[in-house]
Amino acid sequence: MKRIAILGGGIAGLSAAWTLEKARRAGQEIEYRLYEAAGRLGGVIASETVDGCVVEAGPDSFLTEKPAAAQLCREIGLGDELIGSNDAERKTHIVVGKRLIPLPDGLMFMVPTKLVPTALSPLFSLRTKLQMAREFLFPPEPATSDESVAEMTRRHFGQEIVDRLVSPLLAGVYGGDAGQLSVRAVLARMAQMEQKHRSLTRAMLAARRQRAKAPAQPLFTTLRGGMSQMVDAIAMQLPPEWMHLSAEVYAIDRVEGAAHGARRDPAGWMVETPFGKELFDALILALPAWGSASLLRPIDHPLAEALSGVPCTSSITVTLGYEIGRPLNLPPGFGFLVPATEQRALLACTFVHAKFAGRVPEGKRLLRCFLGGARHDELLDESDARLTVIVLKELEQILGLKALPSFVRVCRSRQAMAQYGVGHLERIQLVRDRLAELPGIALAGNAYQGIGVPDCIRTGQEAAESALRVVNAAVGAGMR
Ligand SMILES: Cc1cc2nc3c(=O)[nH]c(=O)nc-3n(C[C@H](O)[C@H](O)[C@H](O)COP(=O)(O)OP(=O)(O)OC[C@H]3O[C@@H](n4cnc5c(N)ncnc54)[C@H](O)[C@@H]3O)c2cc1C
Repeated sequence: MKRIAILGGGIAGLSAAWTLEKARRAGQEIEYRLYEAAGRLGGVIASETVDGCVVEAGPDSFLTEKPAAAQLCREIGLGDELIGSNDAERKTHIVVGKRLIPLPDGLMFMVPTKLVPTALSPLFSLRTKLQMAREFLFPPEPATSDESVAEMTRRHFGQEIVDRLVSPLLAGVYGGDAGQLSVRAVLARMAQMEQKHRSLTRAMLAARRQRAKAPAQPLFTTLRGGMSQMVDAIAMQLPPEWMHLSAEVYAIDRVEGAAHGARRDPAGWMVETPFGKELFDALILALPAWGSASLLRPIDHPLAEALSGVPCTSSITVTLGYEIGRPLNLPPGFGFLVPATEQRALLACTFVHAKFAGRVPEGKRLLRCFLGGARHDELLDESDARLTVIVLKELEQILGLKALPSFVRVCRSRQAMAQYGVGHLERIQLVRDRLAELPGIALAGNAYQGIGVPDCIRTGQEAAESALRVVNAAVGAGMR
């Protein structure tokens, strides 16, 4: 019987476990163990229901256009629980001074695709609007190497678009800094569009025409009862005695096989946890990059160095539940983003009641506020009470919201969001090259090919397939 260990029980580790479980059910002679440092599965995914409202500590949904997450949900029996975002209500505002200015209709990330709404929007100065027109008519030369998202945006549309649009969007989505994030890793499609069309506006117009032919689908998908439904449903499918919680892996080590004359037994991997040491044929490290780096350092120093070069930011969410006894006067839409130039603690705020139907009961409102990220790491050490005061004060200034919430939940995700800096793709290629020298080790998680839930699920599946190939090759070699 071949043995595989999965280190880390976030969604990447769980999706690896589910892939192995399917292989086992299909008759492959394997067993596997999952080791998770925390006392629960799911990693940053954690949902709870408070006063009938679904409160998410981590992700609240995933991009519908990336199919891995919805496919996994269907496989584990959650197909009927999938719900789409309420896109008829989709409008995002940008905080400018004490005003909320809606993003103009037709904006695709930072690229305008509708002339009139962009021309009339008070979000951009005349100078920026002229630069947008120039981008369409006389686009800049395409980049010859990787650059930051801010640099690419500046070349095409100017600094105001960096400040008012791109920085707040990336701070909200990635907890990241547009001046650091790699355009080729984070906005791969745009980097390709630039190479092909030079003008991003022309490219987006072409993409929009293509998209108009495809059936419409909601931008985001989630689960009716919260993202934890996915975690719980996968866990239900896995043998409970193979899931080890509160089992931090302290160390891993390569074990050389015994020599029999010219022949050597296949090597294995030792995993050390508070419960002792166990030997495996293959390991899947579904950990944050810093976690994999620290375990791999004694085994392959350059690999560990490459992994440590993927920094992670932390995030804080403060979720506030309101009874609408008196009108809250919230603007329509999914919420707002706060540019760094506004010098506020808030990065973004989602109006959960508007984004998804059925997650907040009638007569209630749920606001989910984001803080921390690359911009304000120091806030992580503030108490829940202090963070709540900061958020309430800024909501009052931005929204005029004076009502007090009926409940508050503060959640911290420490060092959880991988940041793909300029040169990330080359770094990951180096990681792949080093891994090729370590058969039996596979990596999964948000440090490599996308930080979204569907990306992490895909890396978990691929890592499990790679581990299966290694153990199957060893079985084949043993038979020969
Ligand atoms: C606040 C927030 C909001 C987000 N919103 C969205 C969103 O809306 N949509 C979206 O698609 N994505 C979102 N993301 C990103 C996405 O949720 C994550 O990238 C993804 O869930 C990470 O999964 P993972 O399994 O790679 O890592 P994690 O969830 O971090 O899991 C790693 C696990 O490894 C364990 N571990 C660490 N070290 C050890 C060790 N030595 N031994 C054993 N176990 C160990 C940890 O305890 C943890 O459980 C969000 C992330 C955050 C933090």
